[in-house]
Amino acid sequence: MLVYVGVGCNEGERFVNLIRGIRFIAKRYVILAVSSIYRTKAVGFKGRDFLNAVILLRTYDNPFAVLSYLKTVEHLLGRRSNDPNRPFDGDILLWENLYLESPILTVPHPRMYLRAFVQIPLMELFKRGFPTFGYKLRTFADVGDVVKVVDGAALQLLAVD
Ligand code: AMP
Repeated sequence: MLVYVGVGCNEGERFVNLIRGIRFIAKRYVILAVSSIYRTKAVGFKGRDFLNAVILLRTYDNPFAVLSYLKTVEHLLGRRSNDPNRPFDGDILLWENLYLESPILTVPHPRMYLRAFVQIPLMELFKRGFPTFGYKLRTFADVGDVVKVVDGAALQLLAVD
């Protein structure tokens, strides 16, 4: 299955944490694409700006196993429950043609439509030819707060060991 995952960080060495989180994900799943990294204002609380990106991965796990692994990575990087600030956050955005509503997991991610910092990196991957699964992206009148800070191409180079 192909899955889009949103990743973000607003604590500590943000760029390092984001890359560490992506590398932890890559230990278990094949990462097929990584968007550019964008800096955005914290939504819904006062905190440091976030760095956000979207990755596309391939998995043979079920959605709950992927969610559980993302939570493991969040905790490995120091995430505390009840704190909106986070050294790493991973959310399942789209999972091929799956629609799922359960108490712990909703796919597509219920708030992704509201978030320019998700739609913009996702659009970047769609434009590069990765699958849309029929998902229609929203265009935002005002994306002033979402600033590209690392271009996708540069990121691919950084991923080389
Ligand atoms: P967050 O604060 O973004 O890490 O998400 C809090 C909770 O949202 C998690 O503990 C999940 O159980 C739940 N959740 C529901 N749908 C999703 C999804 N698509 N991806 C990630 N978490 C989800």
